[in-house]
Amino acid sequence: MTKFLIIANWKLNGNYKFINKNINLIKKKIYKSLYFCNLSIAPPYIYLGYINNLLKNTSISLTAQNVDIHTKGSFTGEISIKMLKDVGVKYVIIGHSERRFFHNENNDIISKKFILIKNNGLIPILCLGETEKQKKRNETEKICIQQINSILENSNINILNKTIIAYEPIWAIGSGKNANINEIQKTILFIKKYISSLNSEIVKNIYFLYGGSVNVSNLDIFLQEKTINGLLIGKASLTIENFISLVKKAEKTINSFNSS
Ligand code: PEP
Repeated sequence: MTKFLIIANWKLNGNYKFINKNINLIKKKIYKSLYFCNLSIAPPYIYLGYINNLLKNTSISLTAQNVDIHTKGSFTGEISIKMLKDVGVKYVIIGHSERRFFHNENNDIISKKFILIKNNGLIPILCLGETEKQKKRNETEKICIQQINSILENSNINILNKTIIAYEPIWAIGSGKNANINEIQKTILFIKKYISSLNSEIVKNIYFLYGGSVNVSNLDIFLQEKTINGLLIGKASLTIENFISLVKKAEKTINSFNSS
């Protein structure tokens, strides 16, 4: 994992027409010129297999938006980790605030999912971050560490090796308010320092993403920070022309940093 990772989280959006248009344009306009960025698409579950076929022979990967804690059996409506593997998924998003709020997922469930994903050879993307109230109470660091600790309580530090942590302040998601870059950097550095205090090697193998109202206009500030290894993009990934401009801009900016 060395390139800047950009993940398009389509959430509960899209249909075959949207997918055909978006994937065709991504293949036509950007995938052959991706030198500094890795791209991954997180569509709704039912389109994963279809998109996997469209993405064959490209470097673009597939991300799932969720997984069940059970691996098989009588769990109507659920999708297992083996099914995700079967349809070609590489990354699985867990702990997203929308799942915490609308589906009552707590740290315990999220930690079980994290361990399951990792133990099955896929890469968990653990989303964590504070609410606006928690931020006002200066609880950001405490909340992030609690979310990491709940995983460590059920496993050990090795479980974090080669995984992804996405810092997503909840108040910044889909709100148009993105967090101040110094605060983002401070929080990510704090999390890194905490993990480093437990194991200074493993922390080097964790990718740290930021997510929260990133778009083509504010993208530059996130590219300048070496602490950020990639971005989770929601709303701005739904309009394909904007998303393509965003990825092209990221390529160009990272290229200019590398050559200066
Ligand atoms: C998200 O939901 O993970 C996200 C980052 O969304 P948005 O870009 O719309 O804030």
